[in-house]
Amino acid sequence: MYVQLFGCEEVKVDELFIGPIGENAEIEDEGNHGNDETRLFILSSLAQSQMSRVACILCEEPMLVFDRYPLVDGSFFLSPKQHSTGCIEVKYEGRPLFLTCVCMACLDGLSTNRVINCRFCGEIWDGSNLVLGTMYSYDIFAAMPCCAERLKCNNCFKLLLHPQQRLNFYSDYSHCVTCPYCATQDTHFVKPLSFCYTKSNVVRHQSIA
Ligand SMILES: [Zn+2]
Ligand SMILES: [Zn+2]
Ligand SMILES: [Zn+2]
Repeated sequence: MYVQLFGCEEVKVDELFIGPIGENAEIEDEGNHGNDETRLFILSSLAQSQMSRVACILCEEPMLVFDRYPLVDGSFFLSPKQHSTGCIEVKYEGRPLFLTCVCMACLDGLSTNRVINCRFCGEIWDGSNLVLGTMYSYDIFAAMPCCAERLKCNNCFKLLLHPQQRLNFYSDYSHCVTCPYCATQDTHFVKPLSFCYTKSNVVRHQSIA
């Protein structure tokens, strides 16, 4: 079985995988946090679209963008899919991607209306470990698949990975992959948020009073 990464040689599945869940838990640092290149990229992208603020894709609250770090009271990330109409298209390392933002309150999930969980396995999405005020170059929702539903082809719904296997890097889930069953090329691991998540009515971190 083969999956094909965008712009790469066809890669054998066995070479891509690192193993069962939990073995690749180390944080991938792509070196783009807090550097001037990232800062200028975001500011010039927003300026081109004449935007001085952005909206959180989860709660839709507007967020100001500053010209110094931290750039925003939340985190930017680049997704190959447009999660909301407010996410502008940008070119990053030659790829068309969408500049997307999640506010700090939604990343931390501190209030009941800001917690989302997987519609399939129920796991609560937790963005509290993400670096604030900067940008991830991959889709942060696709990066940590919670269950097998997240590993299926968007066209034929067959599993692209063994349910227990995970890709080497968080960014691998944002790459274009060819389904070995139906040959559809897509960023299969990046799925619409409304397909994957539902608003939860629980508080993620119960405060101990
Ligand atoms: Zn929010
Ligand atoms: Zn799940
Ligand atoms: Zn398929």
